Amino acid sequence: MQDLHDITHGELLAVLEELGQPKFRAKQVEEWLWEKGVASFDEMTNLPKALRTALAERYTLGGMEQLARQVSEDGSRKYLLRLGDGAAVECVGMPTGSKLAVCASSQAGCAMGCAFCATGAAGLTRSLAASEIYGQVMHVRDDFDTRVTSVVLMGQGEPFANYDATLSALRRLNSPDGMGIGARHLTVSTCGIIPQILRFAKEPEQFTLAVSLHSAVQRTRNLLMPGVKRYSLLNLYEAMGTYVDLTGRRPTYEYALIRGVNDTEEELESLVDFCRGTLAHVNIIRLNEVPGSKFLPASDARAGEFVRRLQQVGVEATIRLSRGADIDAACGQLRQRMEKKRA
Ligand code: SAH
Ligand code: SF4
Repeated sequence: MQDLHDITHGELLAVLEELGQPKFRAKQVEEWLWEKGVASFDEMTNLPKALRTALAERYTLGGMEQLARQVSEDGSRKYLLRLGDGAAVECVGMPTGSKLAVCASSQAGCAMGCAFCATGAAGLTRSLAASEIYGQVMHVRDDFDTRVTSVVLMGQGEPFANYDATLSALRRLNSPDGMGIGARHLTVSTCGIIPQILRFAKEPEQFTLAVSLHSAVQRTRNLLMPGVKRYSLLNLYEAMGTYVDLTGRRPTYEYALIRGVNDTEEELESLVDFCRGTLAHVNIIRLNEVPGSKFLPASDARAGEFVRRLQQVGVEATIRLSRGADIDAACGQLRQRMEKKRA
C-alpha cells in the first residue's frame, strides 16, 4: 500500500472526489499529515468515520519507529529511526537557545563511497521518499516539542542522488502548510554532482547549498571522494561560478581536515586558489574519527591556520563546532554501532 504522504495534492483531490467527499476535506487531511503528523487515521477526528476507514483501506501513514535515541551533554539528540520496510536512518536535533536545527538523511546509506565517511563504507540501501525525509524532521520536532528553525541534509546519503524527493521534502518544509521554515534555512549538502548543482541553481526557492570539497587538489580529492571523480575540480569551479551568477547566493564549502592528507601547505594553497575572489564560505570541520579508519583529525591549531589564511585573502571561513561528539553524532556512526550490536 502507498503512503498517503507520497501522493500529490491533485491525486488526493481525485481520491476524495471518488469517495464522494467535498473539496475542503483535502485541506483537513493535509493538516493531519503535514502539521500534526498523526500516526493513525483514527486520530483524524474532524473526518467522518467512513472516510477514515476508506482511507485506511487504501493507504498507510508511513510512520517511523524510534530504534535508538541518544542525548548529548550539549543538549543535542540523535535518533535512529526504522522505516516501513526495515531500513534505518539517522537524524539529529541541535538546540541553541530558542532555535532548533535538524540534521536529516536523504538516503539510507550512500553509494558515493567517500573514504572518510562511515555511511560511505556501508554502501547504499535505498533512497528515501519525500515523506521519509520530512518525517525525520517531524520526529525531532515532536520529541523537542518545539518549532524547527532550520534543516540541513547532512545525515546519511547524497541528496542530489535523490533529487526529486529531496526537492519535494524541502518544499514541504518550506511551505506554510508544512513547517514554514524559511528557504534560506534549508540547506542541501552535496558531494558535488555537477548537473544537479546547476539544476538546483535554477529552482525558484532560495534554498542554501553546501558542497563537500575536502580537497582542492584533484588527486587527493579522487582518493577521498572516488564517487565524484568524473566531476573534476575545474568543472566544479565553473559550475559554482554559474551557481553564484544565477542565484546571487553564497555557497558553503565543507572541508574536514585530515592529518597529513588535506592539511598540508600544498593543500592549503590550492584551497586558497580555489576560493579566492569567489563568493563562498568555507567551513573547516573537525574530522569525526570512524572506527577502523586510518584517517585522523588534524590539530586544532592547523584548523585555525586554515581559517586565518583564507580570511587573509578575503574568503569567509569558520571552524564548525562539532555537536554531540559524545553521542556518535557523526554521520553513519549510530547505525553502524547498532548493526554491530545486532550482529
Ligand atoms: N552526501 C552529502 C551530505 C551528507 S554528508 C555530502 O557528502 O555532502 C554531510 C557532511 O559530513 C559532508 O560534508 C561530509 O563530507 C561530512 N562527513 C562525512 N564523514 C565525516 C567525518 N568522518 N568527519 C567529518 N565530516 C564528515
Ligand atoms: Fe555519501 Fe556524503 Fe558520506 Fe560521501 S560524505 S559517502 S557523499 S554521505
